[in-house]
Amino acid sequence: MLRSVVIVGGGTAGWMTASYLKAAFADRIDVTLVESEAVSRIGVGEATFSTVRHFFDYLGLDEADWLPKCAGGYKLGIRFENWHGDGGHFYHPFERLRMVDGFSLADWWLELGDRSRPMDRSVFLTTALSEAKRSPRMLDGSLFASGLDGSLGRSTLDEQRAQFPYAYHFDADRVAKYLAGYATARGVKHVIDNVQQVVQDERGWISQVQTAEHGALSGDLFIDCTGFRAMLISKTLGTAFQSFEDVLPNNRAVALRVPRETETDMAPYTTATAMKAGWMWTIPLFRRNGNGYVYSDQFISPEEAERELRAAVAPGRDDLEANHIRMRIGRHQDSWVKNCVAIGLSSAFVEPLESTGIFFIQHAIEQLVKHFPDEHFDEGQIAAYNRRIGNAVDGVKEFLVLHYKAARRDDTPYWKEAKVRDMPEGLRERLALAESRLLDEETIYPHYHGFESYSWNAMTLGLGHRPRTPHPALKHLDPARARAEFARIEAQAAEMVAALPSCHEYLAALND
Ligand code: FAD
Repeated sequence: MLRSVVIVGGGTAGWMTASYLKAAFADRIDVTLVESEAVSRIGVGEATFSTVRHFFDYLGLDEADWLPKCAGGYKLGIRFENWHGDGGHFYHPFERLRMVDGFSLADWWLELGDRSRPMDRSVFLTTALSEAKRSPRMLDGSLFASGLDGSLGRSTLDEQRAQFPYAYHFDADRVAKYLAGYATARGVKHVIDNVQQVVQDERGWISQVQTAEHGALSGDLFIDCTGFRAMLISKTLGTAFQSFEDVLPNNRAVALRVPRETETDMAPYTTATAMKAGWMWTIPLFRRNGNGYVYSDQFISPEEAERELRAAVAPGRDDLEANHIRMRIGRHQDSWVKNCVAIGLSSAFVEPLESTGIFFIQHAIEQLVKHFPDEHFDEGQIAAYNRRIGNAVDGVKEFLVLHYKAARRDDTPYWKEAKVRDMPEGLRERLALAESRLLDEETIYPHYHGFESYSWNAMTLGLGHRPRTPHPALKHLDPARARAEFARIEAQAAEMVAALPSCHEYLAALND
């Protein structure tokens, strides 16, 4: 029987893994986490997916407790600004498309839509809450959408049935600290030290990690959460790395922590603004914004990127320290090799455009528990795990490449090159299909990757990649029910905007 797990790394990945293993297995597994004070965490990673709710509920944590302690806020979706180069915007919300007579409202919008109202505001309800900067919760704590509240208990991503309408923004360092408290209170042994050497046995399996001051730490299973260093999976085990830079060339970011001009003016969404050589995130936390410019250094230098970022979000605030980050974009061929599983940046990273880093961590931990080994380490199960992890990352890669391919901008060398750059073959086929029909669950990337067809449609339509004609069948269907549904969304949106408090007002009450 497998008894002991050693996690190397105390970033979001390390502490999420340690907490989850304790929530799942309690004292039936010994967990040790070693992290170095000399090697800092990546320190960004502040926006999440709505399905992160399964993770917190699995741990039995209450949003009202952990969210204020992590400086958190709400995220109803992502607002894409200037992706057409004209200063306009559209949303990618956490909301499925309603269906009328077997066709999605997006299909109906192409046939009937009032062109004076943007598509996203016609077919989705939560985009109105974003525009009005509303909280998704009333001051009494109830959720605006009925039937979705309440803990999901010990459920996993596989069991996701409904689409929960929001995710979170939070301070990644505070989350790591909060989860460290959770995990150590449940028996995780915490060692603060530098791992200097990874010791392998005669088969090449990891037997120990050697620390500077705490001697050797032995275990049956080792989790590599050392971030981009990938000390175990790559440096020790030499696992091959597949770079995605041929299709996703952004390889650097520069981040700033910026106080909001008006603290109360807090958006319940992430903003992704297209820039000259990449894009910029704006992530509102309770008392400040996180901003960062993600770019390719083939097109702009770090100094220029920092200047462009400062001019956009913090003019005159030269006192704010910029954090320059190199990103390694791609994934290891296998995230699980012998008795080592890489989780977090050590395993894979696509750029942060759709905030998928923490989702990958959650997915990997859940799959690790589902494929948990005994002392024989079944090769078939390890291969099955690697397939699932690889498929999920590759699906997100495709989805992100779509953003650049479908964007209408071509006003700078960066955006011009995006149009002629290679793309994954599957995406080429999907984009060709999307010229005649909206994509559906059958025609989007076929393996689980966290995104559903509504996301693919929100992005293709939002970016201006429309089918040549509406669906021919709609001409033969009575449009009355579809018209009524558009009117219902508009009325519900107006009612919710009037009833809900502002995002800041609600969070201020929670922080009291
Ligand atoms: P790190 O935070 O780098 O942690 C590595 C840990 O390993 C540290 O504790 C370090 O001390 C330890 N370590 C390293 N070497 C040793 C050693 N020799 N001995 C002991 N300990 C060691 N994700 C999202 O979900 N949403 C976002 O909005 C988002 N934005 C991002 C923006 C950028 C620019 C980047 C680069 C990433 C972003 N991510 C985002 C991804 C997210 O930041 C990571 O997935 C997440 O923080 C996990 O990081 P990690 O724990 O794998 O690595």
